[in-house]
Amino acid sequence: MRKLLLFFFMSCMAGNLLAQRTIIHCGQLVDVQHLQLLKEMTIITEGNKIAEVQKGYVNAGPADKLIDLKNRTVMPGLIDMHVHLELETNPNRYMETFTYNPADYAFQSVVFAGKTLMAGFTTVRDLGGSGVNISLRNAINKGLIVGPRVYTAGKAIATTGGHADPTNGYRRDLMGDPGPAAGVINGADDAMKAVRQRYKEGSDLIKVTASGGVLSVAKSGENPQFTDAELKAVVETAKDYGFKVAAHCHGAEAMKRAIRAGVNSIEHGTYMDDEVMELMKKMGTYYVPTIIAGKSVADSAKKPGYFPELVAPKALAIGPKVQNTFARAYKTGVKIAFGTDAGVYAHGKNWMEFVYMNEAGMPALETIRAATLSAADLLGDDRLGVIEKGKLADIVAIDGDPVKDIRSMEKVKFVMKNGIVYKQD
Ligand SMILES: [Zn+2]
Repeated sequence: MRKLLLFFFMSCMAGNLLAQRTIIHCGQLVDVQHLQLLKEMTIITEGNKIAEVQKGYVNAGPADKLIDLKNRTVMPGLIDMHVHLELETNPNRYMETFTYNPADYAFQSVVFAGKTLMAGFTTVRDLGGSGVNISLRNAINKGLIVGPRVYTAGKAIATTGGHADPTNGYRRDLMGDPGPAAGVINGADDAMKAVRQRYKEGSDLIKVTASGGVLSVAKSGENPQFTDAELKAVVETAKDYGFKVAAHCHGAEAMKRAIRAGVNSIEHGTYMDDEVMELMKKMGTYYVPTIIAGKSVADSAKKPGYFPELVAPKALAIGPKVQNTFARAYKTGVKIAFGTDAGVYAHGKNWMEFVYMNEAGMPALETIRAATLSAADLLGDDRLGVIEKGKLADIVAIDGDPVKDIRSMEKVKFVMKNGIVYKQD
């Protein structure tokens, strides 16, 4: 233990004088910009950054740390643009609303965050929870707990009775009228207030539930739930605070309104028609498909009693359609960023989305680009998404070749985030 501490202090001191270099030998390296696999490469990291990328295996000096990934496929740290780290699906989910304290969500979110990082996802966008996700981000940033870099929306913004109104399905005396502070708005003024409240609470971006959703205890999974004026107020206020806006949408009308208002991404997008796709291309809106979530809710809905009565038919109708929507959007040339809705299925299985995207016609290396370079672009974070001099040292490696077998995305053997190694088999 004392030896370890001494080593720690020495590394810190060395870090102050001259950051220790880590030399990483990569059997093959995914070049997400040119969609190719580079053989026998070396990445050199210094502190939390990538210092150099070189051809061949560069020798490590006596002060350097050497990491041998000669038998691995190395790629930038993966980014999941749609997760919910506070939650995980289970048949008692709806009861938990009444039995869980914030601390219960907090403790389980620590476990889910750890699983996510170990699955190779060094950055995630948390698109809605109670606000515990903000504290989770802060605890990870302080190094108190292990998890991915989190961009969080805090509480998603909904309209009364809409998807993400937290009191949907309650008995009347418990329903109340949550209001903009709790993320429930009606009208443009409320919308502005709700966005500003997110700023006050420490969110990184805004999530709106522009259409009905599958898992809310409400009848429609696709109806438009925000007016043009409400969406416009959300987007304009968000811009004042440097927030991007992600819009949950299943129905086409909701998507059209959200895209015209200027949101940055459409989440799920199930009933996307040709007009929506053309509009997205014109406006540069990203599509975050979450195919795995659709498949997972459809499977769960087949188990009797798993979901409330109002939810099961929506899950069966909407869930299985997402993969086909993704195939059409990809073919049409809509910009795609990787996202899974983790929490709606079990955390840590995010890799399955690569398989479903690949199945639907997107080549393996493009699926990896969607989860790195494109995701970083949608985040608006140019420190991420590519292995290149000056970028943050977020690096993962898998066993196997994803081009030959996309399922090798499951076999994550090495995870470095911000220059720190969290997993090495
Ligand atoms: Zn979601």
